[in-house]
Amino acid sequence: MPEYKTEPFIVPSISGLLPVGERNPRVALTSFDPREKKVQVPSREVTCYECGRRSHVPSAALSANCIHCHAHLNMTDIELKPGSRRLTVRTLGNVTIAPDAVLSHLSVVCHHLDMGGRASGSFRCSGTLTISGGTRIEGSVQAASLVVNKGISVILTQGAALQDATIYGRVSGRIEASGCVRICRGGELCGDCCAAEIQVEQGGAHLGNWIRP
Ligand SMILES: [Zn+2]
Repeated sequence: MPEYKTEPFIVPSISGLLPVGERNPRVALTSFDPREKKVQVPSREVTCYECGRRSHVPSAALSANCIHCHAHLNMTDIELKPGSRRLTVRTLGNVTIAPDAVLSHLSVVCHHLDMGGRASGSFRCSGTLTISGGTRIEGSVQAASLVVNKGISVILTQGAALQDATIYGRVSGRIEASGCVRICRGGELCGDCCAAEIQVEQGGAHLGNWIRP
């Protein structure tokens, strides 16, 4: 039985690229040189609101695609005005609800949310949810921190899951916080509070149980 040895057929001069001197220097890909200094585009880290994983995107971008799940990520700031018919908002930017707006059945995922008007629905904020208009929220509320401004009355029918909360106004509902809940002077929390720490300043009140996690 004769033994066949196949020699690899290699043509060393054919690589698909032109010799360096003949390449068009204006075409970036064909003149790629790994020793060239990389242009550093300022980037920021974002957490995808669809899959929850982190990736880096150029700071100036207004949208991007998640490198993990390819979801389209909106990064613009959005204002919801009175009469807005937009119910679903997904952005890594900030959302403002205008003071004279009355909106319900919203589903908002954003960084900071400034709620000036009366808004109901579900809200998930990776930053601060600031409530500066009296409202009754029928859906779920999640935020890194919650601030309820002075003189404002908020009803959270499904409660809120937070890291921290600072209450200057009046809140009815159950609060779960991994950090500290601060009830400031003139503030009132009416409902059970499951938090690592709770601070009730003089002139503030907590009507409910404190449950340590
Ligand atoms: Zn993703």
